[in-house]
Amino acid sequence: MRISKMLFVTKKEEPADAEVRSHALMVRAGFIQQIAAGIYVYGPLMWRVLRKVEEIVREEHDKAGCQEMLMPALQPRELWEESGRWERYVSEKILYHFEDGRGREVCLGPTHEEVITNFVKGKLNSYKQLPQTLYQIQTKFRDEMRPRFGLMRGREFVMKDAYSFDADAEGMAASYAKMRQVYRNIFSRCGLRFTPVEADAGAIGGSGSEEFMVDAETGEDAIAVCHATGYAANTEKAVSRIAAPPEPAAEVAMHKEPTPGAKSCDDLVALFPDLPVERMLKTILYRATWADREQTVAVMCRGDREINTIKVLNHLDALAVDLADEKLVKQATGANVGFAGPIGLSDDVLLLADSSVEGVKGFLCGGNETDTHYLDVWFGRDLEQPLTKDFGMVQAGDQTVDGEGTIEITRGIEVGHIFQLGTKYSESMDCRFSDENGKLQPFQMGCFGIGISRTAASAVEQGHDEGGMIWPLPIAPYHVMLIQMRAGDEAQEALGQELHDQLTAAGIEVLWDDRKMGAGGKFKDADLVGIPLRVVVGRDAADRKVEWKPRTGGETEVIAADDVLGRIQAALEEAGCA
Ligand code: ATP
Ligand code: MG
Repeated sequence: MRISKMLFVTKKEEPADAEVRSHALMVRAGFIQQIAAGIYVYGPLMWRVLRKVEEIVREEHDKAGCQEMLMPALQPRELWEESGRWERYVSEKILYHFEDGRGREVCLGPTHEEVITNFVKGKLNSYKQLPQTLYQIQTKFRDEMRPRFGLMRGREFVMKDAYSFDADAEGMAASYAKMRQVYRNIFSRCGLRFTPVEADAGAIGGSGSEEFMVDAETGEDAIAVCHATGYAANTEKAVSRIAAPPEPAAEVAMHKEPTPGAKSCDDLVALFPDLPVERMLKTILYRATWADREQTVAVMCRGDREINTIKVLNHLDALAVDLADEKLVKQATGANVGFAGPIGLSDDVLLLADSSVEGVKGFLCGGNETDTHYLDVWFGRDLEQPLTKDFGMVQAGDQTVDGEGTIEITRGIEVGHIFQLGTKYSESMDCRFSDENGKLQPFQMGCFGIGISRTAASAVEQGHDEGGMIWPLPIAPYHVMLIQMRAGDEAQEALGQELHDQLTAAGIEVLWDDRKMGAGGKFKDADLVGIPLRVVVGRDAADRKVEWKPRTGGETEVIAADDVLGRIQAALEEAGCA
C-alpha cells in the first residue's frame, strides 16, 4: 500500500491527558482518536492491528474446538433479573441502561453470561452433548468510573468472551485447563511477555480465576510474584506469610493514655518510640452496602499492614465496601477520625480483624475517644478477639504461604481473565441438562475474556522508545515498511515497485512510503508508526542495493534487493507468523 494514497496523518503534539505512552503514541500516529472519554475511533492502521489480534484469538480458539458465534449488545433487563446481577451492576454504575420506546428497560452488554446461558437453555439438553465452549468477539460497554490510559480502559471496547458448559466440576476444570493453554498460546503468539496470576473473581463470581498480565510498569494491577516458588497472584487476591510480632517484655494491665493529635501510626511511633509498630493495631471503619441495607464495619490490622477491601467485600458478600466518611466515624466511635479502636465501639458496628493481629500481645489501639489510645491490650484478657480472617494486603518482602520464598510486587496490564463459574448462572437461570440417570442437573460453566483492544495497547506499552511504537511482528499493522528516500527518482521508483509487488505476491504486507517529502520526516514517521521490519530504497537503488533497518534496533545493513524477501520470510518465521 502506497502511503501517498492512504489516509496517513501523524501529529507532533501529544494529547494533554495521555498518562501512558501507548495512548500518546497511538493518537500521534493517527491509530486512534478519542471522541469522548473512553470512546475511540479505530483508524485504518489500528483496525489492522485489532484484526490481527482477533485472528490469533480465533485460530487458537478454533484449534481447541471452540465455536464462534455473535450475541447482541442490547440486552433486556429481565435476563439480568434472572441471574440477579442487575442490582449489583446498576449500583456499581458500570451498566449502561435505559428505557426503550416501549418503556422496557434494556442495557448495553458489559459481559454475556446471561445471554449465553439463555441461548443454550433448551438446546443443550443431554450430557451426551457436553462439553461445549462457545465464543464471540464483540464490542462491550462499561460505564467505567475512570476511563483512562487510552484503549486500556475504555467505555466501549472490543472483547473476546467464551463460555464453557460441562456436566460436572471435573469437566469444568478440564475445560478451564484447556482454555488456560489457549490463552498462553494466544499471548505468546502476539509476541507479548506475560504472567498468569491467581485472581479475584469480582462481580462475575464463581470459584477459581486467573488473570493474564502483560508485564508493564505502567500496568494498573499490582502483582505479587515469587521467583523461587513461581507463586503469582493479583494483590487483590494474594496471600502471604508474615513475620510474628515481637513479644512484650512483661504482662502489664491495660491502661488509657492521652495521645493528643496522634492520628496515624507515624504519629504514634513518634509518641511511643519503644513500642514496635507491629504492636500497634489500626482499626479502619468502612460502610458496607447491600441491595437492601447498609452496615458500618470496623476491621483491625497490625500497624505495619494494610487492609485489602476486596477480601472484606468478599467475606461480607456485599455490593460495595467504602471507607467511612468523617460523619460515620464520629457516629461509630464518638471520636474524631484517627482514634477508632475495638473497645467501646457503637453496638451496631461489625468488628472484624485481619489475621495479622494473630498473636499480637500488649498492643496499642484507638480509644474511641478523641486524643486517646489504649495501651497494653490483650485479646482474651481485655476483650474478645473478633472474627479473624485474612483481610490483609500482601507486601514486598513477605514470605510465600509455604515459607519457601519471598514475595516481590510488580505491575501488569490485565489482558485476559478466566473463571470457573460453577453453577452460579445455570442455577439462577434454571438452565439444566439431563445426566446419565436422566436426572436434571445445572451446567458447570466457565467464562473466559480477552480484551482485544487492551491487548493491542499493551503491546505498545511493552514495545516503544522515544521515537515511537515498536509493534511485535505478529500483530503489527504491516509486516514491513518500505521507505523510498526520494519520490520521483526513477531507479528508486522502479525498485520500490518491484519489491512491493514481489513481497505482496508472497503474502507479505508492505507499507510503502512513497511520499514527496524529506527523508528525515519519513524516518520520523517510520519510528512513530513502529512497523518492525524496514527496508530503505535510496541512493544505491540503481545497483539493486537497499538498507535493512529493523525498527527493533540492531545494525543497519546494506543488502542486495534480491535478499529482501528471504530476510523478511526468515523474520516472520522467527516471530512464529510464517
Ligand atoms: P478490570 O479489572 O481491568 O476492570 P475486569 O476484571 O473488569 O477488568 P473482565 O470482566 O474479566 O475484566 O473482562 C475481560 C477482559 O476485558 C479483561 O481481562 C480486559 O482485558 C478487558 N477489559 C475489561 N474492561 C475493559 C475496559 N474498560 N477497556 C478495555 N478492556 C477492558
Ligand atoms: Mg472492570
